[in-house]
Amino acid sequence: MSLVAIYLKLALQRPGCPICHLRAESELRYIRSLLWESINDPPTRGHFIRSLGYCPEHTWQIGLLEQEEFGVPLGNVILYEHLSSVILERLALYTRRMGWTHQPWWRRLLQAIWPRSWQPLAARELQPEAPCRVCQMGEESEQSYLAWLLRELSGPEDQFRTAYAASEGLCLRHLRQGLAAADRTVESGARFLVETTRQRLGTLHHDLSEFERKSTWNYRHEAKTEAEKMALWRALTFSGGNPQGKPDDN
Ligand SMILES: [Zn+2]
Ligand SMILES: [Zn+2]
Repeated sequence: MSLVAIYLKLALQRPGCPICHLRAESELRYIRSLLWESINDPPTRGHFIRSLGYCPEHTWQIGLLEQEEFGVPLGNVILYEHLSSVILERLALYTRRMGWTHQPWWRRLLQAIWPRSWQPLAARELQPEAPCRVCQMGEESEQSYLAWLLRELSGPEDQFRTAYAASEGLCLRHLRQGLAAADRTVESGARFLVETTRQRLGTLHHDLSEFERKSTWNYRHEAKTEAEKMALWRALTFSGGNPQGKPDDN
């Protein structure tokens, strides 16, 4: 069995969406290797500067992780020392473009005669030229895991289908992505995904309506089952994917 298949099987045994778990793990692996060995790697740094840092979520994840695991957040200090100098340069460029720096007299006169009220204040200098590298890695990994999952579910052996049926299944976003990337060669896997989701969602819908019914005045004495108590959690996981940072806490 390949390493990917082993990762997939392990993820299917955990609560929540398996692809959300695998994506979070890939991102974490990337972040750890960044902090261990790639802070000064030129291509890595180049991307970090082009993307003007990471997205808000990964900015905090990397900052807090280094503090927690390494004690001294030197990698982050090096990154943001560089980034802040770049942003300072960009802001200087923007200020000049807006005409907010010291102007020769004829320019000031020109502006008084012809105010540039039409000119937008948007700072294109602050636009990132690349997406967050960690998000990009996460997206690549979820695409390849989804392709693997569909191939395994379409295969002749039952072990993956059994493992998938016993799991909590894909969240809505990953189901959509998996189907979008699938073709007729993995049609039986796609069909299996849709059928198991329909069954699971049917049960979820029933549990949610029972929760609702038992919350009304007339039926308030009927005890809610464990499945009904967890129904909203399951609905949130299906709609929003695994909760950030705490994949196994439920
Ligand atoms: Zn997911
Ligand atoms: Zn990100």
